[in-house]
Amino acid sequence: MTDAQPENSVSPQNAKRPISAVQVLRCGEAEQHAEHRYGSRLPQLWWVFFGTRWVPLPLQCFLIHHRNGLILFDTGIDPAILSDKDYIRQAIGRFLLRRIFRFRLNASNRIDHVLEAAGVAASDIRTAVISHLHFDHVGGIAQLPQAELLVSAREWAILSQPHPEREWILREHIEIPSAKWRQITFTPTDDPLFEGFGGAYDIEGDSSMILLPTPGHTAGSMSMLIRQEGWDPILLVGDLTYEACLLDQDIVPGTGDKRSLLSSFAIVRRLSERLPGLRIVPSHDFGAVDAVSQATRQTAKLEKG
Ligand SMILES: [Zn+2]
Repeated sequence: MTDAQPENSVSPQNAKRPISAVQVLRCGEAEQHAEHRYGSRLPQLWWVFFGTRWVPLPLQCFLIHHRNGLILFDTGIDPAILSDKDYIRQAIGRFLLRRIFRFRLNASNRIDHVLEAAGVAASDIRTAVISHLHFDHVGGIAQLPQAELLVSAREWAILSQPHPEREWILREHIEIPSAKWRQITFTPTDDPLFEGFGGAYDIEGDSSMILLPTPGHTAGSMSMLIRQEGWDPILLVGDLTYEACLLDQDIVPGTGDKRSLLSSFAIVRRLSERLPGLRIVPSHDFGAVDAVSQATRQTAKLEKG
């Protein structure tokens, strides 16, 4: 902003730059099996029961400060998963969970406290985009009753299939009375940038945040492309991969549908070719903080210049 302009004026530059910041929020720590994170030729049940190589798994979500309001990408985990022994309704789920993840959580990891620590009231969140319906991404929705919760219609359809809990989609934490769910469908687009995705959804109608289907981890998983002048583009990919470099190398994780994971990987890589500098940011990647700060640091240069 130049000195001559009053503080609240919309300069041509600011008109093109609707996002003031993107924050990576840490919502707790966990461990998963190496076979889960990096894939394995062994059957899933083998590593779930006999795997001994545990690797760290950060739980993260993202806060986007858009001029129309605050937007969350995912809502973290509810720490009640550790303190409430009936948090997961089915005994088999409680039994398996302990063999798939080791969580280190406390009350401060609930989304309202995480947001408070970041200087934001949970009641100020206008929209929460849910990349997919796994419990460690929807765990904060009870704390966000005012927020519109965007989910892909394809993901929502999993709830009507038999046994969504077998895919760690737990109705008891999703179908809650306070939640303002809105299913979104992707609009076909002839924008060559999005070729291969089969549609896109522009959240605010200003191209700054575009949702794109990236199935594989779950059938209705989606990613969010953040773009504005002066920044490197950012693609928040949820759990499509656990680390950006694994997507580059076509290394699929130990869960999800391998064929659709590989197909989404290829489409995302094609997007990278068309969008030089694209930062691919998975939810459980330790590199997320650096990737987001590197992508957005150009703001400083632009403002100084
Ligand atoms: Zn997941």
